[in-house]
Amino acid sequence: MDLSGDHHVHTSLCNHARGEMEEYVQSAVLRGLSCITFLEHLECGIIYSHRTWLEQKHFTEYFREGKRLQKLYAGRITIRLGVETGYNPAALDQLRDMISCFPFDHIGVSYHYYFDGSRHRNMVSRRSENIKALIAAGTDHVLDEYFNGLIRACSELPCDKICHLDAVLRHVPGIRFKKRHYNLITKLLTTMAGKNIGLEVNTAGISLRSQPYPAENIVRQAQGLGIPLLAGSDAHRPDQVGRYFAQLSSLYR
Ligand SMILES: [Zn+2]
Ligand SMILES: [Zn+2]
Repeated sequence: MDLSGDHHVHTSLCNHARGEMEEYVQSAVLRGLSCITFLEHLECGIIYSHRTWLEQKHFTEYFREGKRLQKLYAGRITIRLGVETGYNPAALDQLRDMISCFPFDHIGVSYHYYFDGSRHRNMVSRRSENIKALIAAGTDHVLDEYFNGLIRACSELPCDKICHLDAVLRHVPGIRFKKRHYNLITKLLTTMAGKNIGLEVNTAGISLRSQPYPAENIVRQAQGLGIPLLAGSDAHRPDQVGRYFAQLSSLYR
């Protein structure tokens, strides 16, 4: 796995990360990285208590500032302007429209928001209102929805990689995948391999559970299928750029 670039960082534009784009670039330069890929949150049609994503006007600002930084830092670091598209089966046209509005260098797909019939619940959140609602919906059912959604997303959305594949329900106490969920993961990886979609190895998992997302057995399975691996810190603060990459280098060469 190439560890010379961090291919998943956010900024304050998403409304839940800290720091300006240039601070992330400076942090990447300090860490000796040769590439940084911003992967800002895109969500459409989500009914939620607050905005955790960029809207059209924020993406316009993102490209304006990103292009300025690309010129300013040319020769020192490659800056790529990407997007982390949140899957929403009810808003595919809106998502595709937004993606086609901007010349994204890199497109990751995640699935953050589960619709419980009245509103969306964030499947990676630690907030108790999300966790209670997801438990009430049935965690096994939510996991079925999540993995089946990602399988469909591989065909329904433009996609270069799947992000933090097994981070779903990460804050639900005692969460465990059943055999049928592992079967869905195999189906997802097979679909990705057939479409040359990469797998993100996301080091945010190391601080939370001592290993990246996804777990080693899933990464090994992906490697066996010839799926490209892409390193990302999921930084939501400038000092998190490239976090734990040294540990990744000993795990996956
Ligand atoms: Zn985020
Ligand atoms: Zn995400």
